[in-house]
Amino acid sequence: MPNKIATIPLPTNEPILAYLPNSTERINLKKEISRRKNIVYDIPMIIAGKEVRTNDTVDIFPPHELSHKLAHYHKGNITHVQQAIDAALQAREKWASMHWEDRASVFLKAADLIAGPYRAAINAATMLGQSKNVYQAEIDSACELADFLRFNVYFASQIYNEQPISSPGTRNTLEYRPLEGFVYAVTPFNFTAIAGNLSVSPALMGNVVVWKPSNTQIYSAWTIMEIFKEAGLPDGVINMVFANAAETTNLILSHPSFAGVHFTGSTGVFNSIWETIGKNLHIYKSYPRIVGETGGKDYILAHQSADIDVLATALLRGAFEYQGQKCSACSRAYIPKSIWDTTWEKMYAALKTFKIGNIENFTVIMGAVISEDAFKRITRYIEQAKANPDNIIMYGGNYDNKKGYYIEPTVILTKDPKSATMVEEIFGPVLTIYVYEDEAFDDILHLVDNTSEYALTGAVLAQDTYIIEKMRDRLVNSAGNFYINDKCTGAVVGQQPFGGARKSGTNDKAGSKWNLLRWVSPRTIKENYVPPKYYSYPYMDEE
Ligand code: NAD
Repeated sequence: MPNKIATIPLPTNEPILAYLPNSTERINLKKEISRRKNIVYDIPMIIAGKEVRTNDTVDIFPPHELSHKLAHYHKGNITHVQQAIDAALQAREKWASMHWEDRASVFLKAADLIAGPYRAAINAATMLGQSKNVYQAEIDSACELADFLRFNVYFASQIYNEQPISSPGTRNTLEYRPLEGFVYAVTPFNFTAIAGNLSVSPALMGNVVVWKPSNTQIYSAWTIMEIFKEAGLPDGVINMVFANAAETTNLILSHPSFAGVHFTGSTGVFNSIWETIGKNLHIYKSYPRIVGETGGKDYILAHQSADIDVLATALLRGAFEYQGQKCSACSRAYIPKSIWDTTWEKMYAALKTFKIGNIENFTVIMGAVISEDAFKRITRYIEQAKANPDNIIMYGGNYDNKKGYYIEPTVILTKDPKSATMVEEIFGPVLTIYVYEDEAFDDILHLVDNTSEYALTGAVLAQDTYIIEKMRDRLVNSAGNFYINDKCTGAVVGQQPFGGARKSGTNDKAGSKWNLLRWVSPRTIKENYVPPKYYSYPYMDEE
């Protein structure tokens, strides 16, 4: 019975556990990793709440240990995509008309399951399936996913609370209807939290979803679906399919009830989705919502007044954590000549201590890159960079795919600030540095702003307050997430709403009120308590 007004407390971020030697969380996680390694998971699609198996299976291996089969998933085809659309549309009426607090409670429960009994499972799945080290898995799949779920509920309550004024004799209300149709969630491999959030945020607002995860994230996607089921998500609200990406998209984008796409991935794929929607516009019942967070070519710009220890740390963490496979990863840096030697000395000393290997070893900082395709793409960039006479490979540049897709952290020093690795998204552990003359600082601001088509994240480092102000103002359009004296990665839900502009996406800020607003279509309702009973107005009376 909806006879209540619930108070939704301001959520707090899920604390990051430390995983110190002998800690309970470390023991539990290690146990879960070895339990999982003794099972070959058989992963079905989920359509209308049912497990769907086709026996057309694809094997899943940890990117860092290709000799170990972790799981296989059942590949579907467009018949399954059609079934998923039908299941979603069938679930729509009940889900959309459910009291929003009851929908919310499914996701709040999921958050508590993730933070509690499923924490080891979701972290182990992310470590094994996506080659994240323990810390990277913890901040992504446990903390960020729980944060998305909890903060979304809080922001949804703020949206629902936002109501128009009413003048005497009337009652005006805004009803935040879900979109009329279904939402298509297309998710990337690199964040388990994003994979979960892209279907959860429309679903929380009453929408039904067809979710197509990345093939290289299916292992942890399956754990997310297990958690949603345990949290009580009704059948058909989120349907997960594993069919060919282009075929799935073509079928979905030609359905009259396609109501919106929630995408995170590369710019090229997003562009093709947008173009298809444009071509198919005449088919749809409504104008679809198009939300996409896409690529980045994120920068660190240091001024001569920068603290060199802070700078070296920001560069190393920003560029190489999770093997540089964060959309926000630093992949180009601009350092003044006066501080370059000292900065490099510190970076070099630290890089020599970097351990790269199987992430089951907790002392490792970097695992493997996600796939053979990624390995080929990144190493092609490295080879091209080696062949360019404007470049010096300062560190790394080696790779090996015998046991897993391993690539050394690679630092390129370039004389050409418009060379390929300064401009294009590589999405791997490759950092290119341009050392500039201190006096050319103003020109460098222009260069940073105009080097790439993206505008996702950027960081500036300086101690001089006027310089910080200048960098902040001159680089206003260069990044949707701008950092001062910090690295350019590590946005936290509720604290730094995340997203970029230009070719980095629609900047709808995942995990925020602005994102949730894209998944509703408000209806304005005016009720007149004392309506007029005759057509004429007083001014029409005879003198
Ligand atoms: P990707 O573009 O290869 O894949 C993303 C999704 O699109 C996957 O589910 C994939 O199967 C699907 N896809 C691929 N081809 C398709 C097609 N023709 N039609 C429809 N769907 C298709 O990206 P990825 O390698 O998984 O992730 C890395 C990319 O994601 C990088 O460009 C990175 O910058 C970006 N990213 C951006 C953000 C952000 O918030 N801006 C966050 C994470 C990742």
